[in-house]
Amino acid sequence: MSPTTDHVDSLVSGFYLDGAWAESAGGGRRDIRCPADGTLVATVIEASRADAEAAIGAARAAFDHGSWSAVPERERGRLLDRVAELLERDKVAYARAEALDTGKRLVEAEYDIDDIVLCFRYFAGIAGTDAGRVIDTGSPDAISRIVHAPVGVCALITPWNYPLLQVAWKVAPALLAGNTFVLKPSELTPSTAILLMETLAEAGLPAGVANLVTGTGAEVGSVLSSDPRVDLVSFTGGLASGRLVMAAGAATVKRVALELGGKNPNIVFADADFDTVVDYILTAVFLHSGQVCSAGARLIIAEEIHDAVLDAVVARAQKIRLGGPFDADAETGPLISAAHRDKVHAYVQLGMAEGAVLRCGGIIPTQAPLDAGHFYPPTILDRCTSEMTVTRDEAFGPVLTVETFTSEAEAIRLANDTVYGLAGAVWTSDASRAQRVAEALRCGTVWINDYHPYVPQAEWGGFGQSGNGRELGPAGLAEYREIKHIWQNVNPKPQHWFGA
Ligand code: NAD
Repeated sequence: MSPTTDHVDSLVSGFYLDGAWAESAGGGRRDIRCPADGTLVATVIEASRADAEAAIGAARAAFDHGSWSAVPERERGRLLDRVAELLERDKVAYARAEALDTGKRLVEAEYDIDDIVLCFRYFAGIAGTDAGRVIDTGSPDAISRIVHAPVGVCALITPWNYPLLQVAWKVAPALLAGNTFVLKPSELTPSTAILLMETLAEAGLPAGVANLVTGTGAEVGSVLSSDPRVDLVSFTGGLASGRLVMAAGAATVKRVALELGGKNPNIVFADADFDTVVDYILTAVFLHSGQVCSAGARLIIAEEIHDAVLDAVVARAQKIRLGGPFDADAETGPLISAAHRDKVHAYVQLGMAEGAVLRCGGIIPTQAPLDAGHFYPPTILDRCTSEMTVTRDEAFGPVLTVETFTSEAEAIRLANDTVYGLAGAVWTSDASRAQRVAEALRCGTVWINDYHPYVPQAEWGGFGQSGNGRELGPAGLAEYREIKHIWQNVNPKPQHWFGA
């Protein structure tokens, strides 16, 4: 593993309101360390409740008294295009910051920045294309229009696995719709959100429209999701936190959009191409060491091909090379923290205690250089059942559970036997079966003979307890818009409903 010491920053910031970096009222600080080797990456402000309240105040004032919501949508779209250009210009710095915070390989962080640019460009591209609609009232004296209005002040709360990507999915549509916002990135990975504030200002965003607080969910996130001055909370994170956010928003009837976890089925029929399926089973679950909400963590495979496919998958999983962001030989990185690694390991042990058969992995690396980071090996648990905790709960790590089926109906039943419903995949050379199964799966995204691709034009989100609402696509913009009906009587006269 290459040392990351020459990439150390000493940054103290993270609280941004009204267009400038501010001092925290509480004065808290947090060291951000690279999960691959513990290198100090940055020291950022750990905001207090008072800081969060001040940021909401700035966003509220900018919405109520500022000009952003009155800027024509096409102009707001041009600003998003400018943001995309600046992100491309600064791609190296952004990717490096993302890789250091998350421990992911630099090349993966670079792909993420490319996706983020595409997200800003997509929302820029649909600016001004949907101005609402005119209703036929049946009367020449009445004009009736449906128009869009911004929701107002948005609290945007994001996780650590794809830090800036999740931010972009919220910031781009929120800005296009004319809102102001307070962003709270994960306390573990704030660096790129901090950089984004500078980029937005350079692109010409008026002061007060974008505000940032870095800090924990319990301290800062809870204020953002309960403060009456916030109109909408858009949250991406775990199910337990999502429930708290939804409950906190209820008192003031906020709009609450939730993008939560998944326990996603990857269904393989016997007629799928062997080599392709083996390859994609690995990518589906072990990409980013399984820290992907849509990871194909539940392999549901035809009994007749189970042994051959699994032997090949295990053989390749054992060869996956772990390493830090700048290790040219690494194929995947560490988990985000020691606590998270321990949680993943506990799920594996519980799975074995409940009867699953460990085929590979399951041991925390103790040798240098991996012992300096929060690494966990690709782990496969065979002979799982849908009753097991490890099959039901989202481990959010490099853990594949394996179940088998003997009929199409059983495959669908097993796949849908989850409280989640984010994504899933089906592998078969029978096009008609592929469509049937895709229709039957209760989840927001289904891949047929593929895994993981997405485009910003297509909506992303979950059924069941994977959340509500959608990000990306036209529905991803609709989350940030109110719908208003304007009726005008152009020839008003007395109506005489009452009396003469
Ligand atoms: P998390 O729920 O611990 O934290 C997410 C964010 O919420 C963080 O910023 C955190 O500080 C904040 N938070 C925590 N408790 C809060 C509270 N009570 N009130 C307000 N904010 C609070 O999740 P995580 O560990 O950062 O991320 C991993 C989870 O995110 C996984 O479950 C994963 O599936 C999910 N995720 C979902 C999607 C999706 O598109 N559906 C995408 C990425 C990640």
